[in-house]
Amino acid sequence: MSGKIPQSFIDDLLARVDIVDLIDARVTLKKTGANYSARCPFHSEKTPSFTVSREKQFYHCFGCGAHGTAIGFLMEHDRLGFVEAVEELAALCGLTIPRETAPAERVAPSHGLYELQLQVAGYYAEQLRRHPQRARAVDYLRQRGVSGEVAARYGLGYAPPGWDNLGERFETQALLEAGLLVEKDEGRRYDRFRDRIMFPIRDRRGRVVGFGGRVLDGSEPKYLNSPETAVFKKRREVYGLYELLKSPGKPPCILVVEGYMDVVALAQFGIPFAVAALGTAISAEHVELLFRYTSELVFCFDGDAAGHAAGWRAMEAALPHMRDGRQVRFLHVPQGHDPDTLVRAEGRDAFQERIHHATPLSDYFFKRLQSGLNLTEMEGRAGLVMRGRELLSKLPSGVFQQMMLTNLAQQGGVAQVEISAKSTTLITQAAPRQAPRRMVPSLVRRISELILRKPDLALDVDESVWAWLADSGDDECAFLQSLLEIVADNPHIQPAGLLERFRDSPHWAYAGSLSLPQDELPESLLSAGWGNEFADALQRLKEKIRRRRLDVLIAKMDGVGLTANERAEYLELTSSRSGGR
Ligand SMILES: [Zn+2]
Repeated sequence: MSGKIPQSFIDDLLARVDIVDLIDARVTLKKTGANYSARCPFHSEKTPSFTVSREKQFYHCFGCGAHGTAIGFLMEHDRLGFVEAVEELAALCGLTIPRETAPAERVAPSHGLYELQLQVAGYYAEQLRRHPQRARAVDYLRQRGVSGEVAARYGLGYAPPGWDNLGERFETQALLEAGLLVEKDEGRRYDRFRDRIMFPIRDRRGRVVGFGGRVLDGSEPKYLNSPETAVFKKRREVYGLYELLKSPGKPPCILVVEGYMDVVALAQFGIPFAVAALGTAISAEHVELLFRYTSELVFCFDGDAAGHAAGWRAMEAALPHMRDGRQVRFLHVPQGHDPDTLVRAEGRDAFQERIHHATPLSDYFFKRLQSGLNLTEMEGRAGLVMRGRELLSKLPSGVFQQMMLTNLAQQGGVAQVEISAKSTTLITQAAPRQAPRRMVPSLVRRISELILRKPDLALDVDESVWAWLADSGDDECAFLQSLLEIVADNPHIQPAGLLERFRDSPHWAYAGSLSLPQDELPESLLSAGWGNEFADALQRLKEKIRRRRLDVLIAKMDGVGLTANERAEYLELTSSRSGGR
């Protein structure tokens, strides 16, 4: 999709989303007075100086100066682009982003890929109901107990046998771009998926980004996937996440399995919180993505050697994301089974029980680390400590890392294992940003600051101030003027929405610095006083404007003299001296 995202949508989004919940899902927050605090995710620290205000919907770190709105947090923390951050929030709120499409603007090529794949998914689903040779596919799903309802939820389909089913129905170039047609050197083209059960892979917004196809017999490869395309990045997507997020309630954990059929079978048996990687190893990006939606991941692998190797790789990918409060556990299914066959054989409760008893990362880590080492020998213990220390240096510093190091020391028979400075540089080197300097705020600055906290105050600003701001050329005045204009057009705008309006403006840094908490008092106590302080500051500004204007008129009176209008203005200004206040 292309086109500009309307500002009004961003205002609305920021008014709906709660920054406290959003951040709490990533960094555990503690309530402190009117605000929430935590150790800062953007710099390394021992005591919490990161605060989140529910009232303003801002976060701010007193240690490193990081600050912003929910959008800014996602951009910094999840390393998303602006549009991605807005998409993420919209998905959380269940909103669709409307786009303002400029008439001249070209439609991004990706738009066509989503649309095409949606149509192809529809075609495959229809073949599962209609195609004369669909019997094996239908039997396959029936034998696995997959109901029509679950098949529909996952959009399951059937790619019929034959080399040119899609080519006859859809546009060739688009099919090639989506990887649904394979082109040979000699120019021969044919359907990538033939005689397979089809699993449409959807992104978190429900758009079909690719397909997985499973064979109906024992032939290899068991699963075939769409290649990476403009809209399909395997390291960033997982199968089943969209469907998981759509199912009601918060999942107790997210179960990561190997096959798409495992995801569907588990959902069929009442475990609708499994996802699968897309034919690749679990990546650090996958782990980070999933931890946005849960604080507990359970990796489920086959019990064979390949399964153990995959489990170890998943653990390595998870280590950098193991912040305190997050959990990772490992479940190895018995040899000869996969989650699909196991849940059918045992039923839901027994499988839940296995999830419940899955091995915690700490146990798994030490058990696997020791394998092949002889700990009765010094060499074996040294190997354990060296290997373990290197891996544990990838953990974020915190209670969990300390406990793991203590455990490693015990097992290695040494007094203490410390992470050397060299191995932790990556973690602690997030250089503290310069905190903005505090200046004695000018009146204009103070008024802007208060409007950023409580935008509707701007509605009290009268004509005389507007006119004066329009005349004075300085940056602070220009900023206040834009604040007044935005609030006049959007009287219900919230602080976070107001701040976001300046993201692409030259005032962005200034707006950000004004949004920082200036007082140590709790926001709620302060906010009661804001109205008074604002009225006061506004009155003083008006007085200043009045005096300046008087100075101009008096100077003119002494020189060329005043016009009739100016005389009237002079009288008006001198008579209002005692007014106000
Ligand atoms: Zn910080």
